[in-house]
Amino acid sequence: MLLRMSTLLLRTLREDPADAEVPSHRLLLRAGYVRRAAPGGYTWLPLGKLVLDRITEVVRDELVAIGDQEVHFPALLPAEPYRTSGRWTEYGDLLFTLADRRGAEHLLAPTHEEMAALLVKDLFTSYRDFPVTLFQVQTKFRDEARPRAGVLRGREFLMKDAYSFDLDEAGLRDAYARHRAAYRRIFDRLGLDYTVVHAMSGAMGGSASEEFLATTPVGEDTYVGCTACDYAANTEAVVTRAPATGDPTAQPPVEVHDTPETPTIASLVELANARRLGDRDGWTAADTLKNVVLAVRQPGADRTEPLVIGLPGDREVDLKRVEAALHPAQVAVFEEWAEHPELVRGYIGPQLLDKLGVRYLVDPRVVAGSAWLTGANEPGRHATDVVCGRDFTPDGTIEAAEVRAGDPCPTCDDGELTIRRGIEIGHIFQLGRRFTDAFAVDVLGPAGKPVRPTMGCYGIGVSRAVAAIAEQHHDDRGLVWPAAIAPCDVHLVVAGKGPQLDAALELGGRLAAAGLRVLVDDRTHVSAGVKFTDAELIGIPRAVVVGRRLADGYVELRERAGDGRSELPLEGLVDRLV
Ligand code: ATP
Ligand code: MG
Ligand code: MG
Ligand code: MG
Repeated sequence: MLLRMSTLLLRTLREDPADAEVPSHRLLLRAGYVRRAAPGGYTWLPLGKLVLDRITEVVRDELVAIGDQEVHFPALLPAEPYRTSGRWTEYGDLLFTLADRRGAEHLLAPTHEEMAALLVKDLFTSYRDFPVTLFQVQTKFRDEARPRAGVLRGREFLMKDAYSFDLDEAGLRDAYARHRAAYRRIFDRLGLDYTVVHAMSGAMGGSASEEFLATTPVGEDTYVGCTACDYAANTEAVVTRAPATGDPTAQPPVEVHDTPETPTIASLVELANARRLGDRDGWTAADTLKNVVLAVRQPGADRTEPLVIGLPGDREVDLKRVEAALHPAQVAVFEEWAEHPELVRGYIGPQLLDKLGVRYLVDPRVVAGSAWLTGANEPGRHATDVVCGRDFTPDGTIEAAEVRAGDPCPTCDDGELTIRRGIEIGHIFQLGRRFTDAFAVDVLGPAGKPVRPTMGCYGIGVSRAVAAIAEQHHDDRGLVWPAAIAPCDVHLVVAGKGPQLDAALELGGRLAAAGLRVLVDDRTHVSAGVKFTDAELIGIPRAVVVGRRLADGYVELRERAGDGRSELPLEGLVDRLV
């Protein structure tokens, strides 16, 4: 492949665009990888598209290697399956919905669990057909509350999503482990520095879920890592153990109570009071961390009414700060709550809900992350009438202040938890049977009885990864792409008005014929200085300058990372670079 700058759809920018707040966004715009086309929507220019495709290829390569099969679902879907699964309403404002010319409701898919489950139901009939994993690389649509930082958080973005189907838990665990390992290989190949963090605590139903967070201060996810061991968890999912004075292994007994058909604030509070669940006993830092907004949904109702409830206890809470961060809809409820002064010194948390025997799922409008995926219809966790989220901030992020650095590490004796930030580049889930239950996906089992497959789902933000890599691989002069995903392998800079142009094009032709991707800066009305600046901005790993020394048969090789420079004979150069 040989690209010529003289004709390439590319305009580099000297100045930082005013609205670009993070380095990756600034550089991807300035170096001509993307252009903003719509709110939360970006056009990929030729160089950007090359990077996107290379990332896609790495992802595809590793998934095909573990036996996943590529499909492609429609993005425009009828509402019905999403109504059946409950996500038509659970997704809330995040969902882009539209009607066709006959008035039938549709959506632009934010993710495709429903489609995967229906496809397997459609085609597979016997246990012999399993296990199977499907994946696709597709544009997803989410009406994000705050599209941010260019392709980092778009309303339209490229995701790789995969769905595994197994007949039993052991199979699901295997599929999950396989994808976890493949994800490590993928992110290693992409040159990303990342941490795998627990995405939810056991209290959310016990299903495993982990996020891959690219470490960078501009990340929106806050997580904690141990100073002594490799424990890391999203702040939503920290498992804390009892203070040092108590027995760290002691778990409070879990008692399941019948909850009223439709829990109300009063009935929940009554239960809580009866159990004295707000007392210091059993109230861990995790409960504080997981401040929850509770919402009660009438069975069958479309809307969820969020409300905040508190429990008797001895913890002080900064009510003003909480109130300031509430969603408007919650403020009214907050006032209702304030009418119960006897109740409130802390908040109810998922573990306490478990102890109350209250069944719940997580409301995606309230909570950051996708923990809600596993909430409903898990074995032993059927009712969906109480919804809880753990954040108070309107955009669903957790304020770092709520995590208490210093808290002891839950898994080792030596470490403490420190707060870090990252960009969520991948997310893997053991989903369970939520979707196969919803669509009654049954196949014939070995003993002639029907069996219902259990699912895992595995996502990678392909377009987000471009930004995450740029975030980790740049300097003050521009991008510094890892070789594995750079748009080109070699950037040929023509520096001279004489025979350099012909020599560079000839060299470029030979490099391309040898299988390299080559960008030649063959512009004639641009100074060598500008070309060097652009080459550094664009960030291709190796530049070859065809300049003055051509007369002696030499060119200069410049390494973008580390700034290495060397003079090399033109002769034999192709072999050297391949
Ligand atoms: P986030 O917490 O950042 O909103 P998410 O947890 O909602 O992400 P998932 O449903 O887990 O996202 O989707 C799988 C992957 O898709 C994420 O790990 C992330 O890399 C990517 N992704 C999600 N939302 C966006 C977006 N708006 N723009 C770009 N990539 C996204
Ligand atoms: Mg996620
Ligand atoms: Mg998330
Ligand atoms: Mg999200």
